[in-house]
Amino acid sequence: MSVRTIAVLGAGQMGAGIAQVAAASGYNVVMRDIEERFVSGGLSKIEGRLQRAVEKGSLPADEARAIRGRIRGTLDMVAAAKADLVIEAVPEDPELKKSVLRELDGLAPPSVLFASNTSSIAISELAAVTRRADRFVGMHFFNPVPVMKLVEVVRGKATGDATMASALEVCARMGKTAVEVRDFPGFVSNRVLMPMINEAVLALQEGVATKEAIDTVMKLGANHPMGPLELADFIGLDTCVNIMEVLRKGFASEKYAPAPLLRQMVAQGRLGKKSGHGFYDYA
Ligand code: NAD
Repeated sequence: MSVRTIAVLGAGQMGAGIAQVAAASGYNVVMRDIEERFVSGGLSKIEGRLQRAVEKGSLPADEARAIRGRIRGTLDMVAAAKADLVIEAVPEDPELKKSVLRELDGLAPPSVLFASNTSSIAISELAAVTRRADRFVGMHFFNPVPVMKLVEVVRGKATGDATMASALEVCARMGKTAVEVRDFPGFVSNRVLMPMINEAVLALQEGVATKEAIDTVMKLGANHPMGPLELADFIGLDTCVNIMEVLRKGFASEKYAPAPLLRQMVAQGRLGKKSGHGFYDYA
């Protein structure tokens, strides 16, 4: 189907990024969150990024206004359910995602396509709580969405060819490189990345080296643009714990148990960049 309006559920790091890129690609966008402060927080992040692009001269001011004008923030799930494609970007908790998707499925006409931006949860498992498993696909964007080119497009067990084609078309219009992957826990990206991050946290916890040393070793030794601890802060430590739990359960292996230090930091509210503190401070 031809997608003209995209709804994004969640106005957090990812939701606001997806909304911005969708609007910049000409789509009308509805961005839904559960509290006014989260909606306005997401909208101000978008406005800040557009403003900086205008100041740098990389985006004409009238184009920035047009992009912002195509995004509507809302608390209303019914407004989101009227889009042609709804991309879910709520926290990485299987039960929360299922309850949000169930609610949406009850409100959205059968033709509406659903996508989840989950980092690790099986798409088939999420699709199964809806009555549209053939119109359900994984669209895993990367952070920050306006910068990162990749989208892992995940085909669930029941995802139809027409749904895959629509998802790939949306990615192309957004200027993203879509890579098709099968529906395994963590897909490709987080199956490889997250155990590395977790291992870096274990190394820190065991006193192998300081956080700066661990990050420097991986930047200079493995040619990574960012060290694993800095990257964990960027992703969100709560999201890292949740992804490890999905891998642990999905592969039934304790090798994916989240590092105790990671759990402690989340319990203390040290979630990384989004909360101002993680392994590093972002005051
Ligand atoms: P986040 O905590 O920044 O944002 C989540 C938002 O969802 C919050 O604003 C929260 O209020 C909102 N929310 C909660 N319940 C909701 C509901 N019922 N309806 C609408 N909104 C609701 O998290 P994030 O980093 O944006 O992650 C969101 C999803 O994207 C997760 O599945 C995560 O795994 C995935 N993801 C994250 C990254 C990353 O680097 N952070 C990268 C790729 C994918």
